[in-house]
Amino acid sequence: MYSDRGAQQTHGREPSIEQLARNALVELWHWQKKEHGDSASTETFFPVDAELYVREVLGWTVEGVSSIAVGGACRPDVHGRCNHLEQKIYIKTDGVTDGRRRFTVAHEIAHALLHPGDTPHDRRWQHRSSHTGSTTVRPKAEVDADVFAAEMLMPRRAIREEFKKRFAVEHLQARSTALHELLRLGPFDRPSLKAVAERLAIYRTEQGAKSLTEYFGVSKEAMANRLSELKLVIY
Ligand SMILES: [Zn+2]
Repeated sequence: MYSDRGAQQTHGREPSIEQLARNALVELWHWQKKEHGDSASTETFFPVDAELYVREVLGWTVEGVSSIAVGGACRPDVHGRCNHLEQKIYIKTDGVTDGRRRFTVAHEIAHALLHPGDTPHDRRWQHRSSHTGSTTVRPKAEVDADVFAAEMLMPRRAIREEFKKRFAVEHLQARSTALHELLRLGPFDRPSLKAVAERLAIYRTEQGAKSLTEYFGVSKEAMANRLSELKLVIY
């Protein structure tokens, strides 16, 4: 599936992970158009219904479970798992917000599309310690799955458009007067880039308007990461 999709879209060059996520969105968009005709619009397309993609485009099922077992033991830090044999995505539902759940489903879609031969064991977090302390190194498959999920739920083009609609600029500088005024910061406030990104993620331009977090249906943390990553907020 990986090479088929790639060959179609990039004429033999290996497609980027983000391109594969955009392909998935196009497929979902076509399905919604076919199903709902003109009532399908970009306004209603977001938040991206990742579970609909699993069911209708991938033809897999999603099953909510109270906890996910890895290697026979329940792991509270694991939120989802994909099983190629059963063609099923298991998703932890207990104490999980909609935004978190959506991101996990999108992350598991990446594993479904990109890592058919891997077992959860291959994708385990690898812990490596150094003399400066312990560092955690994530396997490439995990990093790739997060890149896929971020682009599927918060496509860079759509994010840039929605950011500009709300803030009337291409990007905001964390220490600018404009931003201080916007967030009503005091003259001596020096919030971190992360703190500023989180404030912008949940910022509503007016009462009843949707923040970026609400529009894309993701967690405040995921949106703040995306804003920094795309340099929509800079230091
Ligand atoms: Zn994973």
